[in-house]
Amino acid sequence: MKALYFDNKLKLLDRPKPERGRGEALIRVLMAGICNTDMEIVKGYRGFKGILGHEFVGVVEACDNHKFLGKRVVGEINCVCGKCSFCIKGLKNHCKDRRVLGILNHNGAFAEYLVLPEDNLHIIPDKVPNEEAVFVEPLAAGFQVTEQVHIMPSNRVIVLGDGKLGLLVAQVLALTNCDLILAGNHPSKLSIVKSMGINTRLIDDLGERKADVVIDCAGTPEGLEMAIGLTRPRGTIVLKSTVAENRELDLTPLVVNEITLIGSRCGHFPSAIRALERGLIDVTPLVSGMYSINNGINAFEEAAKKEALKILLTMDQ
Ligand SMILES: [Zn+2]
Ligand SMILES: [Zn+2]
Repeated sequence: MKALYFDNKLKLLDRPKPERGRGEALIRVLMAGICNTDMEIVKGYRGFKGILGHEFVGVVEACDNHKFLGKRVVGEINCVCGKCSFCIKGLKNHCKDRRVLGILNHNGAFAEYLVLPEDNLHIIPDKVPNEEAVFVEPLAAGFQVTEQVHIMPSNRVIVLGDGKLGLLVAQVLALTNCDLILAGNHPSKLSIVKSMGINTRLIDDLGERKADVVIDCAGTPEGLEMAIGLTRPRGTIVLKSTVAENRELDLTPLVVNEITLIGSRCGHFPSAIRALERGLIDVTPLVSGMYSINNGINAFEEAAKKEALKILLTMDQ
């Protein structure tokens, strides 16, 4: 099968079709999305070798549990042991022995086929097309913010970063009716949520007024520093970006201002699927290109451009 394989360099290769183990499903990938994490892996984040990709929608071609057979599904990315102390406590996404689709010791979705445990799968309602279903994973990561922090309607909230994740998180938080601003550096990207009634601002124009909660979706090493400067004393910062590059940062303001810092990663898939089915979130304006896997290398070059948002890959010939 064709696959986008990363081994210090990204290549389009012919790879063997994966074999499913017990309790796993073989999935024919229909569509996959390129995420910033993929771009960071290509820059050296996590030292991953293998087939990239963790955002996908596909059709189950073989499985043990017949309710999935022939169904269109999306899949949670953490493959867990189910036995370690974290799994037993219900913290499966933090399993000590986890493999992560396209990120850690498990081949990913930029290929014609992938395997995942059946426990990870969620069936997609007919009403939700592939181009939307492929956003379930990042949208679930957006909803994770509201699982972790109680955002009140009276809160002033700044989402920092107008990339794909920032645009999704802003739409999620708008559902809480908080006093929300999406801040970024790209007027064309900001205009996507502005047309949905969400306040937007260029980062340079944010002014002095501090926020109760700041969500860092900037995806840059500078994001956290900026977030610290934007948060009121005793406020909360939610960190969503994973960045390959490290940088020195003075954490004293966190102490002096008694700021709570929360790391935030994967979220609840059924909530994201329901939001798409109900039309609460509009992901379609976030698609800035669709490529066949045959042009996968070009797709990555396109995704790296400043003005790009979500680049999708299709697996058909
Ligand atoms: Zn991602
Ligand atoms: Zn475990």
